[in-house]
Amino acid sequence: MIQVNESKSERERMVEKQITARGVKDKRVIEAMLHVPRHVFVESVYRHQAYNDYPLPVGHGQTISQPYMVAVMTELLELKGDEVVLEIGTGSGYQTAILAFLCSKVYTIERIAELTKQARSRLENLGFRNVSFMVGDGSIGWSEYAPYNGIMITAGAPDVPNSLIEQLAENGRLVIPIGSEYYQVLNVVKKHKGRIYRKELFECTFVPLLGREGWKE
Ligand code: SAH
Repeated sequence: MIQVNESKSERERMVEKQITARGVKDKRVIEAMLHVPRHVFVESVYRHQAYNDYPLPVGHGQTISQPYMVAVMTELLELKGDEVVLEIGTGSGYQTAILAFLCSKVYTIERIAELTKQARSRLENLGFRNVSFMVGDGSIGWSEYAPYNGIMITAGAPDVPNSLIEQLAENGRLVIPIGSEYYQVLNVVKKHKGRIYRKELFECTFVPLLGREGWKE
């Protein structure tokens, strides 16, 4: 079991300066950000920067998102605790842990097997038991366990993949960066009475979503 109290004061500072000061209000999201030890999810050479205000490399050309981005995207899902959530782009597993803290079950997909392996062992060591991992193309979702109350895509897509809209539950919310391969706008999509509503929020930069309903490899 990893000691979660290690770096607690760094986490408190991160939450105060980067998360609450910038307007994140959801108390459960704040609690999750205080609880999950972010330093466990970065490589040892970057460990001293784990609570800083920027993304960091996680290997294989991928990144762990900036803490603020993780908090904002999570808040947009409006999780109350009993939801089933699909995450595309497991990466380091940090966002996965935040989601697992806040809902009843997380299904997470990553295309790079080595990242899944690392993330799985980190989450197991932290005691999370409500996460299922898959290595594969998340742009087509995970139909077996659909529908999902929340879907979070942490890679930039050319458009919202149709498969993911289909796998979103009634009153569900989907968060996705949409734009070019280098620059996107964060979008939130809602399904209400079978209709789809989409809102553009703010600019962001994510690594590309590669796959059948993403960018071609
Ligand atoms: N939430 C992660 C962010 C990782 S970066 C974190 O904070 O650590 C985005 C991840 O999406 C990368 O690991 C990349 O390999 C993965 N990815 C890109 N296209 C994908 C696809 N079609 N299916 C699953 N994962 C994908």
